[in-house]
Amino acid sequence: MHKGSCLCGKVTFEVDCDLPRPSACHCGQCRKHSGHFEASTDVPRDAVTVRGEEYVTWYSSTKARRGFCKVCGSSLFWDPLDRDKHNWTAIAMGAFDTPTGTTLERHIFVADKGDYYAIADGLPQNDQ
Ligand SMILES: [Zn+2]
Repeated sequence: MHKGSCLCGKVTFEVDCDLPRPSACHCGQCRKHSGHFEASTDVPRDAVTVRGEEYVTWYSSTKARRGFCKVCGSSLFWDPLDRDKHNWTAIAMGAFDTPTGTTLERHIFVADKGDYYAIADGLPQNDQ
């Protein structure tokens, strides 16, 4: 069981499975929403229990909706818009209490990354 929360603690969640290895997304949307780049893990929707859901605000873009705490602004969830076809949701790694028991697997959308940092951890990098 993995637990996490937003910064202010109004939103808490539990994930009842091991956390798959996260990817770090460097696309423009994730960079703006997270403030840097966003590492998240895809978990089965039915393994997630959220408390304080009334504090989660969703921002929808073309492919997904992004959930964040409306009190403190913490990035929490990335949910595919086509939820009938997808039984998973992504949770921001920064919201988890440690230990998470996992490590980054790869970087994605590296073609869109910011110009102010280097990726030097030796992990695979996908342009998209
Ligand atoms: Zn909060």
